[in-house]
Amino acid sequence: MAEESERSEIIEEGEEQSESPEESVVDDVPEKAEKPKGRKISNPLGLIFNTRMLRRVVQIFFFLGINAYILTAWFPEAITQFWVDFRNLLPTLPIIAPLEGEFSVIAGSFDVMQREFTSGIFPFFTLGAMVIILTILGRSACGWVCPIGTIQDFAALPNREKIRPSPGTEKELRRLKAYILVLVLFFTAWVGITVALGTSEAIKEAMNIFADAAFDPFNPAYILFVVVPSQQWPDSFSNLWLLGFNYMPPMVWLQMIFVALIVIVSYWFPRWFCRWICPAGWFYGIFSRDALIGIGRNPARCTPDVCNICEVVCPMNIRIRRFPYQHMHSADCIMCLDCRSHCPNKAITLRFS
Ligand code: SF4
Ligand code: SF4
Repeated sequence: MAEESERSEIIEEGEEQSESPEESVVDDVPEKAEKPKGRKISNPLGLIFNTRMLRRVVQIFFFLGINAYILTAWFPEAITQFWVDFRNLLPTLPIIAPLEGEFSVIAGSFDVMQREFTSGIFPFFTLGAMVIILTILGRSACGWVCPIGTIQDFAALPNREKIRPSPGTEKELRRLKAYILVLVLFFTAWVGITVALGTSEAIKEAMNIFADAAFDPFNPAYILFVVVPSQQWPDSFSNLWLLGFNYMPPMVWLQMIFVALIVIVSYWFPRWFCRWICPAGWFYGIFSRDALIGIGRNPARCTPDVCNICEVVCPMNIRIRRFPYQHMHSADCIMCLDCRSHCPNKAITLRFS
């Protein structure tokens, strides 16, 4: 069955507006994208100074900044102070990042809201700030800031043959994150309401590690920045026994395997965690769909019947050509601008409307 089949497509990671995929199929459009004519590199500096490179730099910058206190060991305090000032200006961003980590400075809106709710507080300010950011900038923070998005992007970077599931399979897989979000919201609301009523003891005891923030045990940012650093790690062969189940609980092993899977699978399926699992991303998408800033296509330049390069390079596997030219209102768009960088006709535009 064609719909169920998966296909592999070649995505160039070189210069912007690079070559087309060798093979690419979209259900209601031509079987093969037309190869754009070879382009002469008129500006070699463009290989370094371009949107894709800028995004990588911003991603690394924020990856370090999110756990900025770790920098105090190597750099002057002024660097950490910069991130603390940043945090004072924007304490939460629509990403996933826990504030409980030893070195954490910036937190994810979803992480904070869960904790505020389960403490019996309605997260007015966190929710308000999140909605404002998402309705203006869309899910740009997912594309440029989130540490888990960054990890997946860098894991996918060396692979030129990425796999894109068919639209039907992709649609089914995307439902997973909605189911996870419903479960997380249900447990969060349950704990929050019982805390407000003063009857939370039994439910908290029953929910154990899921009580404070139901998604945390499977939140890769929480595992990486809170669970992993808090373990006692062996520092020589003589205390390798610290890795045994008596010292490192099986749950921690499971969590680390999950994070390793996110990295490994991203090599073939870019941003698979964001596309199929992350409940925060799905939640953010509700508010980002009609964001002020978005992606559009210039109908005078776009040639959708013979080209699908934008879709092939999209890490979120969005069927860009199915959206109206004026504005692509997709809840999944993370504003990474890869489609814009690779379009051979310069047909993808940034829209402000
Ligand atoms: S969807 Fe991806 S980038 Fe967005 S918050 Fe979730 S993990 Fe981060
Ligand atoms: S549509 Fe373009 S900007 Fe949006 S996620 Fe896909 S490649 Fe990135």
